[in-house]
Amino acid sequence: MNRTTILYFAICLARVGGLNGEEMRDSRLSSCGRNDDQCFTNWYKSVGVGGVVDEIVNPTNQQNTGLIIDESKSFLNGLTLLTELVDRVYSEGLRTRAHGSKWSLNNMAYTDDVVVNSQGLTYRKIGIEDETHVTPEYKDIRNRLAIVQSGVMTTDINKDLSEQSLALSTNAATDGQRLVGAISTGTHGSAVNYGSMPEFVRAIHIVIPGEHVLIQRASDPVITESFGEWLGGARVINDDTLFNAAVVSFGSFGIIHALIIEAEPLYKLRLQSKQFNYDQVRPVLESLDPSSLGFEGIGSELPFHFEVAINVYRRNNGGCFVRLFEKVAVTDQAFSTQAEGNVFSREGTNDTDIDLYEAMGTAFRPTMGLLPSAFLKRRVYGRVLQIVLRNFFKTNRRWLQGTSRKPHEWFTSRNNGSPSTTSPIAGTGLEFGVPADRVVEVIEIIFDIVRDDPLAGQIAMRFIKKSSATLGFNKYDLTATVEMSGPYDDVFFRNQGRVRQKIKDAIAASGIPHTYHWGQGLPINDVWVRNAYGSSVDEWKQARLDFLGDAIDTFSNDLLEDLGLYP
Ligand SMILES: Cc1cc2nc3c(=O)[nH]c(=O)nc-3n(C[C@H](O)[C@H](O)[C@H](O)COP(=O)(O)OP(=O)(O)OC[C@H]3O[C@@H](n4cnc5c(N)ncnc54)[C@H](O)[C@@H]3O)c2cc1C
Repeated sequence: MNRTTILYFAICLARVGGLNGEEMRDSRLSSCGRNDDQCFTNWYKSVGVGGVVDEIVNPTNQQNTGLIIDESKSFLNGLTLLTELVDRVYSEGLRTRAHGSKWSLNNMAYTDDVVVNSQGLTYRKIGIEDETHVTPEYKDIRNRLAIVQSGVMTTDINKDLSEQSLALSTNAATDGQRLVGAISTGTHGSAVNYGSMPEFVRAIHIVIPGEHVLIQRASDPVITESFGEWLGGARVINDDTLFNAAVVSFGSFGIIHALIIEAEPLYKLRLQSKQFNYDQVRPVLESLDPSSLGFEGIGSELPFHFEVAINVYRRNNGGCFVRLFEKVAVTDQAFSTQAEGNVFSREGTNDTDIDLYEAMGTAFRPTMGLLPSAFLKRRVYGRVLQIVLRNFFKTNRRWLQGTSRKPHEWFTSRNNGSPSTTSPIAGTGLEFGVPADRVVEVIEIIFDIVRDDPLAGQIAMRFIKKSSATLGFNKYDLTATVEMSGPYDDVFFRNQGRVRQKIKDAIAASGIPHTYHWGQGLPINDVWVRNAYGSSVDEWKQARLDFLGDAIDTFSNDLLEDLGLYP
């Protein structure tokens, strides 16, 4: 059979096959061209994500009148547009959802009524000058507080903070998300002793019908009512239950206009990475004692950041990649003021890679999805993954080992400056959160499945401290995240949906406690949500109802209903 014939049969199979529940949702996309401005599709062009939208709104801070009222308050126009929009949507009985960079791999940012594109809301300000705007506890560190409007990309706030000798306490693997979008799904890196990105949020400025409010913890008040006045007349609410529910709420508590975050003094991260075989890495994953791996200066404690990615098909042949970062305080003023861009290190070559998702999308060719046997898939996928992971973990760049950089110089990628780009091929991601001491059981269940039905993707693990958010997916004292990104489409990699489903089913049947990342591909049912979060689901729903009252439907969507989070 030649390649064209294989392709033809693959397309026919994809077309005539019976539609399951998730594929039914895809039918909404079939009438939705990729460039149609009445359509929502995500960055990764994920199967089952998005569809037709009645209205897409693009608020910005530009004044239509041409009058600049006060440069330091240039957010006001954007805020006014959001308040008017929310009032209208509510009064017309519609639903609305905002999005950031559309990097989420599920329908959390989607509704078919009114979608708000936050990307034009790019106001940010580092430091709160007016002493009366902060509580006495924060007076001395108010230069470390920042106001970040919802369209600000993480990469931009990172650069601004760095110029002020500040840094975020933790980052994701890369920084093309909007900060608000990232916080809303509980985005994380591998900050073993810190947690995920929502931990540095101190107040949430959110628009609901009739008003806009600033929510902060009563146990940790940061800003004052006079700051609320300055912020366009926001009502300040001090309430731990509401804050903890709203901070990871994937767009369900209203349209977030801005966040108040706390940054920390700039630090550097020292990289070490190596490749191992599984028999060397397995005991470390069981004990969380990395001393046997022979990293310089690393004892029995996990360092600031510790992650492992496994190429299953070469796991006994150097396919287990370990990357760690130690946190190094910046004492040298010269470092803190050094020019950005020292990532251009060797003869002008940029050693900042494209992110892992894009790298997978570039490395996996569509025809690889149609390889006829598991044997061939294991061989080809194994080769591709080894190249991608070697680049991503920089084990092929000896000159980088032991070097220290600012966090945002590691956790970035080359193409983040062009947020409108989309992934080279359609793909998805799946990410479990499990108690760290169960992680080996989880990955070995996955090994068994992908031996016979190969997954075109890595198995990556990171470790994060427990979240303080009610529905934070890193809910265990130390959560191990187990992530599998890779290609998945309706034609070439159609079978990847089946493999991923087998993995989800097997983990559900294993009885191992687990959650799913709110921004990744997740099972569309309420069973896992209840199993994972128990009474926290009721707490979250009650906090939402108490806050939104009869506006609760305005900020609901189909996915929320399917997950049992509404009504
Ligand atoms: C290339 C890539 C790399 C990734 N790396 C990581 C990683 O290292 N760690 C990790 O944890 N995750 C990672 N993810 C997942 C990603 O970080 C999350 O899905 C994140 O939420 C995406 O941010 P976004 O700006 O694209 O938000 P979107 O996907 O656009 O939205 C996410 C959620 O936020 C809500 N939202 C956005 N803006 C607003 C607003 N103004 N008001 C109210 N709600 C709003 C949306 O409704 C939605 O529910 C990655 C994804 C990709 C594609």
